[in-house]
Amino acid sequence: SSSPFPPRFSNRFHQLGPAFFTELKASSLPDPHWIAVSPSCSELLGWPADWWERPDALAAFSGNAPLPGMQPLASVYSGHQFGVWAGQLGDGRALWLGEVEAPGGPLELQLKGAGQTPYSRRGDGRAVLRSSIREYLCSEAMAGLGIPTTRALCLVGSQVLKVQREAVETAAVVTRVAPSFLRFGHFEHFAHHGQHDQLRELFDYFLQAYAPDCADAPNPVPAVLARVCAQTAELIAQWQAVGFMHGVMNTDNMSMLGLTIDYGPFGFMDGFNPAHICNHSDHQGRYAFARQPQIGLWNLHALAQALFPLMPTADSDADAAAEELQEALEVYRERFGQALLGAMRAKLGLQDALDDDGLLIDDWLRLLAKHQSDYTLAHRRLSAFDPDQPADAPVHAPLRDLFLDREAFDAWALRYAERLKKSAADPSMSSEARSARMNAVNPAVVLRNHLAQTAIERAEAGDFSEVQRLQQVLSRPYDDPLNPADAGLPPDWAQHLEVSCSS
Ligand code: AMP
Ligand code: MG
Ligand code: MG
Repeated sequence: SSSPFPPRFSNRFHQLGPAFFTELKASSLPDPHWIAVSPSCSELLGWPADWWERPDALAAFSGNAPLPGMQPLASVYSGHQFGVWAGQLGDGRALWLGEVEAPGGPLELQLKGAGQTPYSRRGDGRAVLRSSIREYLCSEAMAGLGIPTTRALCLVGSQVLKVQREAVETAAVVTRVAPSFLRFGHFEHFAHHGQHDQLRELFDYFLQAYAPDCADAPNPVPAVLARVCAQTAELIAQWQAVGFMHGVMNTDNMSMLGLTIDYGPFGFMDGFNPAHICNHSDHQGRYAFARQPQIGLWNLHALAQALFPLMPTADSDADAAAEELQEALEVYRERFGQALLGAMRAKLGLQDALDDDGLLIDDWLRLLAKHQSDYTLAHRRLSAFDPDQPADAPVHAPLRDLFLDREAFDAWALRYAERLKKSAADPSMSSEARSARMNAVNPAVVLRNHLAQTAIERAEAGDFSEVQRLQQVLSRPYDDPLNPADAGLPPDWAQHLEVSCSS
């Protein structure tokens, strides 16, 4: 019982009208070929596997021939980049295809790298194979981890279409999927340009389509802001807990639904260094790992500012309006603190909550930072911890060996063991139960740069099997992989990998 091809497209965003976007066709991609299709994203849409063999599927997702019902458009947004107002940006290389009804609710489809739009500025509207593979793999890896994200449905390449970056590379097109691609920058755009009618229209659209529960609030504007604050807090707490760095947290790269969006020079922490900057172009370290939480709040302030003209009291009593939005912003700090503490407790296998847990967690992170111990491995190995064994027992060796200063580890391990014993009366806290629980939140495999790099180099040589294999592994990140190297330390050659905004 396979669902009909093509799917039925609708497009609520399209109904907003031309102030919000420009309709245009994708540029054609010569001689396109499949690189990968995500089975789980395909499933999310309810699309059967045999769809992908159809030539019209390849034509549609390379941008060569839209499917009936698609209404391609590029949307306009603005934003703050690296803390500075950047003016109008917009979908410079993304194309909104439409919305399809999926089992879990409507989902939008977007092509990324499908050619120039009115918002391309000096860009060519294309994306290179390298960055498209990174976006494809990381979208699906985040989904596998259970972290909110835009999805990647499929990846198409062309050997023929060359793209100039630092070197000449080939082009690719990723199809992204999300309930909405709206960014903080969409709202900033209309606020900054004094287009308050459009701002209102966009807000009402968002409210109705994505936050209907906020419509009943006495004032839906702070209610929506509070909701975005809560979702963003939950998201960034999960980034911090897993050791993910976005790399370019500009307000135009912030999702109104709290999704990870716009994968560029992102990175997963190898050796733990809170000051780590994954984006080689981020000279000031604005988006360093440890700064992500406060940047999230900074960005939410920019969103609050954009929503300010919608406050009914904005003209009569500006202070009261500002205060109401300020209160909504408070949600962020509280939610983030709770979410991060909860996530870290889970990573340490602490099912109940005791007052000193925060201290134990902080000291654990300090220990990791002091030794730049591998973040993913350390947490994974912690699940084998046995509080009834001394810190230097053989069972602890794989973990203990991650720390040069064994005594520092032993001191912390003693406290950890005591903490675990405090909950040991509860049978659900048995070592086996705890270990299984910890393995379900501490991934064995994350998309480390060197794993992506290997898949990219093979793909650039015409072999896409590593992209597909890696995606398969990343779709079950909490399982020990068949190939232990997928869960291992980065090789020496990977120490020098640099990722920049060039994509
Ligand atoms: P980013 O830093 O990747 O979030 O991009 C910032 C802005 O530049 C967005 O409006 C993008 O659509 C646009 N952009 C980035 N790369 C290109 C490109 N190659 N061609 C056209 N626009 C681009
Ligand atoms: Mg962007
Ligand atoms: Mg980008």
